[in-house]
Amino acid sequence: MRVAVISDIHANLHALTAVLAEVDGERPDAIWCLGDLVGYGPRPNECCSTVRTRADLGLVGNHDLVVLGQVDVTEFNPEARRAVAWTQGVLNDDSRRYLAGLRPQATADGVELYHGSPRNAVWEYVLDTEAIQAAFSHSNAKVILIGHSHIPIVAHLTGHDVQAAHAPESTEADLGDGRLLLNPGSVGQPRDGDPRAAWLLLDLDDGRVWFRRVEYEVTRTQEEIRGAGLPEALAERLAFGI
Ligand code: ZN
Repeated sequence: MRVAVISDIHANLHALTAVLAEVDGERPDAIWCLGDLVGYGPRPNECCSTVRTRADLGLVGNHDLVVLGQVDVTEFNPEARRAVAWTQGVLNDDSRRYLAGLRPQATADGVELYHGSPRNAVWEYVLDTEAIQAAFSHSNAKVILIGHSHIPIVAHLTGHDVQAAHAPESTEADLGDGRLLLNPGSVGQPRDGDPRAAWLLLDLDDGRVWFRRVEYEVTRTQEEIRGAGLPEALAERLAFGI
């Protein structure tokens, strides 16, 4: 079983389209999405309908939940809040219904999936050693998939030893006889200094993982952000992957 894992699309349709074109070239058996389909970006409805059509499994993220009014917007910074208000104004009933039917965690084929982490499925950023160790100890799965931080990460647990690192393009990992915690990075708003859209290919039979990056037309999404009247900083950061 080979799975393409995507996360944190953030209404960036051009990034999503480019990723799915590359995913299709790999002919995976399934596509799994770890949440945050909307927020920050200019094309929330198209991203919801694309993920609804294409993903075999989808999670809801904190940005989706805040747009649905299910979590408090005061948790967000001012730019994100402006994007939340804008998204609430344009989100159609189909998108709303789709997002409202998703959960922030799931299990599939022995893999555990969380938007945030096993300890806090919605909000936790798993970036430091303590959070990575806690993620392993709050789960029994051999493979744990997380999103939310927009930073691609690979963490390997063998015995009590955790090896964790940023996972730039071309990073590969092997499950071996240990366990893996994987964050594919973000499709629509990468934050690791590489502006290309991120995704992950996972082979569950061989226990192998490949971190992938895809170029997309950043300027088209930037123009749409400006056209929508969303904060300029949300357009600018896409060029730098921050
Ligand atoms: Zn996100």
